[in-house]
Amino acid sequence: MTEAVNAALEDAEVSGRRVFLRVDFNVPMRDGDITDDTRIRAALPTVQELLRRGARLVLASHLGRPKGEADPALSLEPVAAHLAKLLERGEVHFTDSCVGDGAKHVVHALRDGQVALLENLRFHEGETANDERFAKELQLLADVYVNDAFGAAHRAHASVDALPRLFRERYMGHLMHKEVAALSQLRHRPDKPYVAIVGGAKVSDKLGVLEALVDRVDSLLVGGAMANTFLAASGTEMGKSLVESDRLATARNLLTRAKERGVRLLLPVDLRVGGHTEAPSAKVVDVNDVPPDHMALDIGPRTVETYDELIRAGASIFWNGPMGLFENEAFAQGTMEVARRVAAARGFSVVGGGDSVAAVNRAGLFDSFSHVSTGGGASLEFMEGRTLPGIEALA
Ligand code: ADP
Ligand code: MG
Repeated sequence: MTEAVNAALEDAEVSGRRVFLRVDFNVPMRDGDITDDTRIRAALPTVQELLRRGARLVLASHLGRPKGEADPALSLEPVAAHLAKLLERGEVHFTDSCVGDGAKHVVHALRDGQVALLENLRFHEGETANDERFAKELQLLADVYVNDAFGAAHRAHASVDALPRLFRERYMGHLMHKEVAALSQLRHRPDKPYVAIVGGAKVSDKLGVLEALVDRVDSLLVGGAMANTFLAASGTEMGKSLVESDRLATARNLLTRAKERGVRLLLPVDLRVGGHTEAPSAKVVDVNDVPPDHMALDIGPRTVETYDELIRAGASIFWNGPMGLFENEAFAQGTMEVARRVAAARGFSVVGGGDSVAAVNRAGLFDSFSHVSTGGGASLEFMEGRTLPGIEALA
């Protein structure tokens, strides 16, 4: 690994130099339209500052999972167009490939304060393979490396791992700094009481973070389909609900561990149920009255109030995972209410997870949280205490 110059981006010499900026522009798209540009906006502070300082900016990102070959449906071209609108200045040059003569040509034609976006890094299999040769081709495009792609920091892929190690000058962007600062505070020095709200689809997806949280928090409020597994593990009849029957023992272990540590692990006391996931309306039932032919698809109003008491009292609040099947309006209330309660709380509040952040955006509450993480998997791995390759490679 090339030894890094030990400096902050603020002190870097970027004027007139080509700066490779790894961003996370992996945005949700439908028919070529960007449906949520949160991640693009989140990178703007670093992009704008570098342009203002006269850098020749080379942006790179992945989009989706194209499996190492070009897929027009996963082109970053619409992102280039959208970025140009957000920047309100000049154009965003676009390269047909992230490496090779075409890319070199576009990048070498950049003048100070101009920006190019490379085509999807994952159109080349070298990216996910963390291939050194692919990294060397990318390296030819710039003099300085900056990583602002927190959402990709948990993957040892070429653009975030092999590539930065080839640069002597490698820096963290502002977004990455902000993410690390907010999550580190929760991870290492949370103000107490520390309340975590965890939901979403599966216990198995989030086992690592559940285990890490049980050792640190004062209360753990569980919702979503994940709560079904905990409820079933405690002997509650869950009808047709989504339950991970191979995780009942895991859930029981977590319940025991919480008890031993004096952590209040709360499960729903009432639920919104429906006959199937597309049910047009919900019925609220006591947790012990889930009808055999129904599924629990959201937490109920009494649960929201119980959880809210702890949320209000929390000095630190971490939320990951929706409280129900919020994509269906009939089962969105629990998630939306929890979003509102956390947003209104006085504690230091952090939300992470792709679907949870989508819910926060839908509720229009993005600015009411202390921090909204752009990283789903990355934020969870950070909270688990794992070292993220993309951060380690900058050291
Ligand atoms: P995040 O992306 O925020 O980490 P997850 O991906 O873990 O969240 O979980 C989100 C998914 O879980 C959503 O698609 C949501 O519909 C689903 N979900 C939550 N609660 C339930 C439930 N009770 N039954 C079925 N699906 C649920
Ligand atoms: Mg998700």
